[in-house]
Amino acid sequence: MTSYYPARAVVDLGAIRDNVGSLLRTASPSAGSGAQVLAVVKADGYGHGLVPAARAALAGGATWLGTAQLGEALALRAAGISSRILTWLYAPGAPLADLLRADVDVAVSASWALDAVLAAAQETGRTARIHLKVDTGLGRNGIMPEELGTVLASAVAAQSDGLVEVVGIWSHLALADDPAHPTVLAQAAVFDDAVRRAEQAGAHLEVRHLANSAATLTNPRLHYDLVRPGLAVYGLTPVPDLGSAADYGLVPAMTLEARLATVKEVPEGSGVSYGHQYTTTERTTLGVVPLGYGDGVPRHASGDLPRRPGGPVRVGSGASARTLAVAGRVCMDQVVVDLGPDAAEQAGDTVVLFGPGTDGGPTAQDWADAAETISYEIVTRLGTRVPREYVGDVDLPEARQGGPAV
Ligand SMILES: *Cc1c(COP(=O)(O)O)cnc(C)c1O
Repeated sequence: MTSYYPARAVVDLGAIRDNVGSLLRTASPSAGSGAQVLAVVKADGYGHGLVPAARAALAGGATWLGTAQLGEALALRAAGISSRILTWLYAPGAPLADLLRADVDVAVSASWALDAVLAAAQETGRTARIHLKVDTGLGRNGIMPEELGTVLASAVAAQSDGLVEVVGIWSHLALADDPAHPTVLAQAAVFDDAVRRAEQAGAHLEVRHLANSAATLTNPRLHYDLVRPGLAVYGLTPVPDLGSAADYGLVPAMTLEARLATVKEVPEGSGVSYGHQYTTTERTTLGVVPLGYGDGVPRHASGDLPRRPGGPVRVGSGASARTLAVAGRVCMDQVVVDLGPDAAEQAGDTVVLFGPGTDGGPTAQDWADAAETISYEIVTRLGTRVPREYVGDVDLPEARQGGPAV
């Protein structure tokens, strides 16, 4: 295939499918018991592509999809996906009627949001399925427990009028990546109380949900009826200190690779890239990799030896493969690697910035470490100009697209 772009992100849809299968087995150890999986596909499927990621996740057994933005939920419907979808982040004036017409479940995180959903239900003549989001201690979006009584009373009254169905109570954890932290169980206790109050008020809850990837992987007590993994769907772990992705049965789905644009010899003492943060210590060969911060490669992962190495780049293949660090500053469109004095590489050779890591090559987690950030940011901020190529066709029978009929 002709490409004008000398780099690409190869996304393995089979890996996404299998990661979801693995998460489903974690959440639901014996068939029919335990939790369903809602695959979070916000932010363009964490950079992997919204619709392909969603289809792969459904093929792996997810029965729900989740998006932060309303437009992402509508884009899934426009692509013909008919599974349950929950969407949760919007401001006053958002076109909620469009969501109801598209049969999307909507989160309610404030009393104004309930009013907005009721107005949309009246406008469309549809019954809105709502999930009340409780702030159990994250200190972000959600109804404070003190306000929950009022919102519940209005929601249950609207339920009697046929405007809404309160199908879910949900919340989000602040320190799920630190499973033993006391806030985790404290939030769970507030959550249990909110569930009890909702049921007492007359809600017929279909799903109670609290667990993100970290809680799904580390804490069965928090699985309830539905788990909401995002990062783990893409084969990355939110708890790298507790084990590798492979330890959790996950395979990173994205490989970021580029073809060397220039390979050239330079003398000892040559300054490399803006600011000359790297200087060659011998006559050597430099390779120019056509990816930079304009593509989402973090400038914070620049190499500044001897203070610290830059992000990793795998060059060569087979027995001659080796992992080098970015030499000097990450530029907008390119980075440089020092291939060493005896380099066999040539312009046009493929190098890998990150991938599944199964061959000992670098991972998105390694880039996160080099840039002092989290792997979420490495994949999600990959620039839109980098072409995504999909491998590992997933089989998505019609029946699988739908999930349970509503
Ligand atoms: C992003 C998000 C998730 C998924 O989080 P991960 O850590 O990627 O698993 C789950 N729930 C909510 C509300 C989110 O915003």
